[in-house]
Amino acid sequence: MSTHKVFYFSHAPQNVYEIIREEVPPGFELISLDEDSDDERQEKLADCEVVIVAARPMTREFVEAAPALKLLHHQGVGYQDTVDVAALKERGIALALTPAGTTIGVAEHTLLLSLAVCKRLPYADNELRQGRWHINSLRPYSFELYGRTVGYIGMGRIGRQTAARFKAFGTKGVYYDPHVALSAEREEELGLSRVEFNELLAAADIITLHVPSGEATYHMIDEAALKQMKPNAIVINTARGTVIDESALCRALEKGRIAGAGLDVFEEEPFRPDNPLAAMPNVVLTPHISAGTRDALQTKMRALFQNVQRFFNGEPLEHQVKL
Ligand code: NAD
Repeated sequence: MSTHKVFYFSHAPQNVYEIIREEVPPGFELISLDEDSDDERQEKLADCEVVIVAARPMTREFVEAAPALKLLHHQGVGYQDTVDVAALKERGIALALTPAGTTIGVAEHTLLLSLAVCKRLPYADNELRQGRWHINSLRPYSFELYGRTVGYIGMGRIGRQTAARFKAFGTKGVYYDPHVALSAEREEELGLSRVEFNELLAAADIITLHVPSGEATYHMIDEAALKQMKPNAIVINTARGTVIDESALCRALEKGRIAGAGLDVFEEEPFRPDNPLAAMPNVVLTPHISAGTRDALQTKMRALFQNVQRFFNGEPLEHQVKL
C-alpha cells in the first residue's frame, strides 16, 4: 500500500511535530520543515497529496508548486486570509476546516485576556518583578467581570462558547450577528439578547470580536465605532487583526477614550515591538495563540487526520468549504 504524504506547511519546533506525529494514522507520512524556508516548502510540496495549513498562508505560488495536491486541510477555521481559494478551485482541490479544538481554546483565551485586562495582569507582574508593589495603586483601574455587560460581535461557534464561559462569571450579554438569531431558549440559557451594532457598542463594558476576516468585517471597529463605546469599555480581539483599525484603537487608548484592550491578533503579524500598543499598560498582547495549547493541537490533529482518512476512503469530508 502506498503512503500518502501530508505536509505540515507552517514551521514549528520539533516537540510540536512530535505531538502531531502521534496522531498520524497508518498509511500516512507527515512531512515537516527543517527550516522556515520557502525553498524547502517548494521542494517538499512536490509530491504531497495533503497540506495542513495554519497561520502561514498557502498562496497561489505554493498551490502551483504542489502538482499532487488533492486536499488542503486548515488546522483551524480562519481560511479567508490563509488560503488562495481561487487557485484551489481552478484545480478542483478540496478545502476543509478543523473547528474541533479551535473553538474552546479561543473561548478560554477570550476570558483570559478579559480578566488580564481588567486586572492589568502583565503590568502588575512586570512591576512586581522590578520591585514595585502596586498593592493599592492599580485599584482605580481594576475591574471584576461580575455584573458587567459583554458585547459579542459574531455569534458562531466561538461566540457561543465564549458566552457560556462569561455567563459563569455573572455577566450580562448582548450580541450582534446579522446572520444568526439564537432561539429564545438559547438566549436565555446564555443570558443574551440580540441587538444592533450601534446598540452593542453603546451598551457593552467588554466588546469581544468573533467574526471572520473579509470585506464585511474589515475595520468594523474604527474611529466611529470606538467613539460610541463607553469610557470604561475594553475591546478583546481573538478573531483577526483586520477587524480593528489598529491606529484608531491606539489613539482611543492613548486618549483614554476607552479603558483597555486584549489582543491576540494584529494588522501586522508577527507583531513589531515598535508598535505603540507595546508601551501601553492597559493593553494585554499575545502572539496569536488563542487556540495554541497542547490540548487543542491534539484534538485538532485527531479530528483532522480522521477527516483525511475519510477523504481517501471516498467518504464525504466534514467541514468542507464550498469553493
Ligand atoms: P463561525 O463561522 O462559527 O462564526 C463566525 C460568525 O460571525 C458567524 O455566526 C457569522 O454569521 C458572523 N458574522 C459574519 N460576518 C459578520 C458581521 N459583519 N458582523 C457580525 N457577525 C458576522 O466561526 P468561528 O469558529 O466562531 O470563528 C470565528 C473567527 O475566529 C474565525 O473566522 C477566525 O478568524 C477567528 N479565529 C481566531 C483564532 C486565533 O487563534 N486567534 C483561532 C480560530 C479562529
